[in-house]
Amino acid sequence: MKGLVLDAKWEPKAGYPVSDWEKQTGKAISGNSIWRHPKLEVREWPDPTPGPNDVVLAVQACGVCGSDMHFYETDKDDYVLYPGLTRFPTILGHEFAGKVVEVGPQVKTVKAGDMVTSEEMIWCGRCIPCRNGYPNHCTNLEEIGFTIPGAFATYIAVDEKYCWPINAIAERFGSEEKAYEVGALTEPTTVAYNGMIERAGGFRPGHYVSVFGAGPIGLAAIGIARAAGAGKIVAFEVSAPRRELARKVGADFVYDPREVSAGDRLMDLSQGQGFNFHVEAAGAPHLTIPEMEKALAINAKIVQIGRGAQRVPMYLETFQVRRSQVFGAQGHSGHETFPNVIRLVASGRLDLSPIITARYELKDTVAAIAQSTQRTDGKIMVKPNA
Ligand SMILES: [Zn+2]
Ligand SMILES: [Zn+2]
Repeated sequence: MKGLVLDAKWEPKAGYPVSDWEKQTGKAISGNSIWRHPKLEVREWPDPTPGPNDVVLAVQACGVCGSDMHFYETDKDDYVLYPGLTRFPTILGHEFAGKVVEVGPQVKTVKAGDMVTSEEMIWCGRCIPCRNGYPNHCTNLEEIGFTIPGAFATYIAVDEKYCWPINAIAERFGSEEKAYEVGALTEPTTVAYNGMIERAGGFRPGHYVSVFGAGPIGLAAIGIARAAGAGKIVAFEVSAPRRELARKVGADFVYDPREVSAGDRLMDLSQGQGFNFHVEAAGAPHLTIPEMEKALAINAKIVQIGRGAQRVPMYLETFQVRRSQVFGAQGHSGHETFPNVIRLVASGRLDLSPIITARYELKDTVAAIAQSTQRTDGKIMVKPNA
């Protein structure tokens, strides 16, 4: 089969202490400190052979993520920008949906012909965090499209326990093709849902919600805020096309944060009472959190979903006076998240299909990722079996 393979050289930066675990597993905990001279290419790769519990999917749609972009872009010394867990060479792509074409002998819940999407986090179910119910913090984590072969490929094998059916989405949209594209949005949407609903505990219908950053995660957060009954949704985003998408998926007010003082705008829009729920999806917390801090309602919540390797100036006195709190969130597994997102989409209450702004064939995946570096698209889809 064909797949978009990322290869790179294992050349730890001077001063990065490579751990024994990293040496043994070949997995870099901090990818941008180790992987140098990345090369992306659509090429031949062995067909997946399903284990007893695996299903093989013919991938119908796979979205380009910000992390894929951070493998394409490099720093001045030609190291990848992506700071997380990685092992190369492998096939990229982790936001996907496909048709089941083969199942292993032990598979019970999925059959050939089924339409499914899949989790990206291959949590082990055996480590202490997994056993305590925190699969997003698995200590034996593998990640599809980061440490094991991903879905910018003709086929992918996944254990059935990570697969979720999207038939109900197909019924809603009345089209298999549309259902696969929308199904491939499930993964980024679950990241926003996990942060907002599971980690931060959500908000009361009527509450005012701000979303900083309207890339795919921020756009999903806006859609979820609307579906969950927000009284007002305000988004801040530097890209004009993305501001337009933010409006389409439910933001009532959208601003370029370079042109307004975000905190002051939120205070004006809440008649001085502050916003109840703030979502950081910009990955620039050193810039966004101080603005949120200016506009904390009493009992306000801030949830950090974007990844940003900066320290953040915070004045905790404000958090005391405003009885406010900050929640850190990562991942998307467990806690009913996948099935609830699929339900919301199937009900029509959450429709993120307008955020899909470009489509590519598998052979052009490098061009798809190059386009994403413009940072003006919503979600770019690659369609390996279209
Ligand atoms: Zn992603
Ligand atoms: Zn685990």
